[in-house]
Amino acid sequence: MATYNQSVDPVEEVKRRLEIAEYVGRTVALQRSGRNFKGLCPFHNEKTPSFYVFPDKGTWRCFGQCGEGGDLFSFVLKRDSVDFRTALQELAREAGVTLSTDSGKRRGRADHLNSVISAAVDFFEQRFRDDAASEAREYVLRTRGIGEEAVAAFHIGWAPNDWRALRDYLSTRGYDERDGIAAGVLIEREGGGAYDRFRGRVTIPIADERGVFVGIGGRAMGSDQPKYLNSPQTEVFDKGRTLFGLHTAADEIRKTGVAVVVEGYMDVIGPWQAGFRNVVATMGTSLTEHHVQLLRRSTRRIVLALDPDAAGLQAAERAGGLLLGFDSPEAAGQAAHSARAVTGDTDVDLRVAPLPAGKDPDEVARADPALWRKAIAEAPPFAAFLVERLLAGQEIASSPADARRAIDRVRPVLLAVTDPVERAVYVQRIARHLGSTEQAVDERLRAGAGSRRTGTNAVPVPRPAASQETYLLASLVRNPELREEFGRLIPAGFFSTEVDRMVFERWYTGRPAGDSDDPVEMRRAYLAGLRLPPFTAEQAATDVRAKIERIKRERDVVHLAAMSERMAEVERESGPEAVAAIANKAWRGLATATDERDVAEVVFEVQQLAQSMHRHEHIPQQGQSRS
Ligand SMILES: [Zn+2]
Repeated sequence: MATYNQSVDPVEEVKRRLEIAEYVGRTVALQRSGRNFKGLCPFHNEKTPSFYVFPDKGTWRCFGQCGEGGDLFSFVLKRDSVDFRTALQELAREAGVTLSTDSGKRRGRADHLNSVISAAVDFFEQRFRDDAASEAREYVLRTRGIGEEAVAAFHIGWAPNDWRALRDYLSTRGYDERDGIAAGVLIEREGGGAYDRFRGRVTIPIADERGVFVGIGGRAMGSDQPKYLNSPQTEVFDKGRTLFGLHTAADEIRKTGVAVVVEGYMDVIGPWQAGFRNVVATMGTSLTEHHVQLLRRSTRRIVLALDPDAAGLQAAERAGGLLLGFDSPEAAGQAAHSARAVTGDTDVDLRVAPLPAGKDPDEVARADPALWRKAIAEAPPFAAFLVERLLAGQEIASSPADARRAIDRVRPVLLAVTDPVERAVYVQRIARHLGSTEQAVDERLRAGAGSRRTGTNAVPVPRPAASQETYLLASLVRNPELREEFGRLIPAGFFSTEVDRMVFERWYTGRPAGDSDDPVEMRRAYLAGLRLPPFTAEQAATDVRAKIERIKRERDVVHLAAMSERMAEVERESGPEAVAAIANKAWRGLATATDERDVAEVVFEVQQLAQSMHRHEHIPQQGQSRS
């Protein structure tokens, strides 16, 4: 099984850490344009900006003469005329991502940092027995009621209230300050040197899924702030990819078939003492798809255990990472979609166990084990939870208008439910709640959905990322026999990201795959593993053709928007008559000045786009013939 350090895709990591507009903005003067940015294209000579950066997509494109575009990597490739490796090195340096062509070397480095953290864990465990730690022991053993068995099992310790206790200890173990800083247990001092990150805190080490220490959590005693202090993100620790307690809980998760997710360390340790050992914590971050993947190795069913009082729910919203804090139907629909994005559709059975108000999981599991067992066993599906939250506070409808409003609120959630049986259950529930009939509710749901301008099955919120391009490339990778038809049809720069272009090129030329930590091979392997419909080669070809058309059309829309904006700008500057005159001159081949050519170019682009989009309107849809 791949470990964390080997499974990080450096290309994705770089994109996650660097803001494309900020990075490109260092080379190109950019100005805001709606959600995007624009500036003068650095790759051709122009006077009106036609170079756009799209932060949401992490891409850029020139809508002017050169027509170049791509992602962050394409930008560096083009700007510096370098190869992909060099671009990756440059961007990784900027992003603080450690690269190594030798995964053994990288593994060695990670092992080294893990051993520094292990040494710190040893030290803190020893200090927990000191006289000076009496307050910490009092807090852990009495106040929190954590027994000696749990103290040992979770390696709970104490960091002395001292700026150099750990630093000095590490040096006796042969680790220098740089090791301690890189491992996240020391903090670099301005002007050189380092001091202890954890001081006067109860320490709770964080292990990864293999049981290797990757970070440390520190709980303040008394009124010190912050209450919890974690190791920072390091080469070996990423909260978004680590679940506290997973190594200890994995067996029990497999045995019970359920993984319970809570927010903090104590909510893992409390249930553990009460005999519930299938609990893990997200350490205050959202539940990410990486977390889900880790749990998915042991079970399908993931239960978020939440404290439903006002403050607890907010915490739960973060723990769930599913934007449960919606105020509007749109936000609720978005939450349902995020859940599906995180859980990868129907593969994961995501549930929510609301606990009694004001009680955290630690208290419930210990004070009332029967209630805990019941709450976990009977946790409703995520969508049901959302429906209940939306209906809460909604009395029996006193008027038809009331009922319609209530149904409109839950619609986005129901549209995200793909299983018709499950959906029918919710319809029944809503009808009963509103004192209406299932048929009336159903009709209202359909009526509302049908009135959306995007069509009857359309969901009013955009689906998150997994793009057309990704599925298109995955289809190609999966079906080598499509090479004949599409290899030449798809131009080299068709895909938006540099890595996808290289995957495509390898697919097309049949070049052999690189080794498994080659970024291009990592992407290819990911695409090859995507779930696709069980198409025959012929169906796949039809599907690929349709996807290409759809992508082109979407691009035309973006292009036209950018062009229309440029046109408006040119008209504001020169007046509509001047624009018409220049266009006319250009049409006859007479425009020569650079600024005139710029204007002419915009006019032609807009015309061409309008024509091209008109053509696309008439492309027959799949299954329709043109006879
Ligand atoms: Zn350009």
